[in-house]
Amino acid sequence: MKPLCVTPDGVGGAANPFEVILQIAFSRPQPTPIEPMKTTHPPTTSQAAAPLNTTAQAPFDQTTGSRRGFFKNAVDKGVALGGSALLGAGVLGVEGCASAPGASQEWAQGQANNDVLSKRSVFQIPQVYLPVVGSASLFPVRRIYCIGRNYAAHSREMGSDPTREPPFFFQKPADAVQLVPIGVMADHPYPALTKNYHYEAELIAAIGVGGRDIKLEDALSHVWGYTLGLDMTRRDLQQEMGNQKKPWEIGKSFDHSAPMGPLHKLGDVKHFTQGAIWLKVNGVVKQSADLSQMIWSVAEQIVKLSQAFELFPGDLIYSGTPENVGPVVRGDLVEMHIDGLPNLTVKIV
Ligand code: MN
Repeated sequence: MKPLCVTPDGVGGAANPFEVILQIAFSRPQPTPIEPMKTTHPPTTSQAAAPLNTTAQAPFDQTTGSRRGFFKNAVDKGVALGGSALLGAGVLGVEGCASAPGASQEWAQGQANNDVLSKRSVFQIPQVYLPVVGSASLFPVRRIYCIGRNYAAHSREMGSDPTREPPFFFQKPADAVQLVPIGVMADHPYPALTKNYHYEAELIAAIGVGGRDIKLEDALSHVWGYTLGLDMTRRDLQQEMGNQKKPWEIGKSFDHSAPMGPLHKLGDVKHFTQGAIWLKVNGVVKQSADLSQMIWSVAEQIVKLSQAFELFPGDLIYSGTPENVGPVVRGDLVEMHIDGLPNLTVKIV
């Protein structure tokens, strides 16, 4: 079904430039193979450590036999996006080789006689990007973290005691992102296996500077920007797995489960510590709260997350949903709002 175009005020209006960016965003990077180095085989250690590309290069790590910092450094140095995506894919491929079960013995030998950089990836995996509003830039998405039960009333409706529960997190895969351009009602596919498909309206923070054990007073300086989005949930599967004390994965981390708008760079928007957040289904208000009602603020979430995981540029954090989550069915129109951001609208199809 072709997506409807809507203006922020309703149906109708001109096609949005982000439709174009959407196509660009999900068609990059071009499947340009990494050119093999022209070396004899087997290469020497010094050849293995020779630059793959003169644009950006991390030192070869003799301990891990990888260029682990390569992607991060490429991003930190502001390498052109297409380039960093290509480099990122290449390096992740290298790391994949390094950690592949069954290849460990060969790999151990290969550390001293490393010709990994002379190989090429058997295929390219697309990098997921979010367009940046008011800019030609794209923000590459690395991981998507989500906090659970972060508004007291929602915590209670999910059967928890908000006064005693420390924050907890789960992840969605980066390719669960469904970009919903501004002013466009995107078709959102009703997923398989569920009979109780829920919306959760949330503020999303985007990390621009990584780190671990981040201090509270520094936490917001790691934020690059914000957007709004839906943490779509197969509630029946989530609850069934929870009842069995099994992972929530199938309820939370499925294809297209992360509809979100384009990113707003910090400076164009302020930090979101208060302001209305609401969600309507078919024009009827379902969720309505204030961002100040979060149990754990975005800054506190960054602190807690960075104790468990090293954060990197490109990480997104869903900051939790208010109370009154509920079901949608095919044909429903979902609109969500956060003060200071353009609304996000999807049609369940
Ligand atoms: Mn959520």
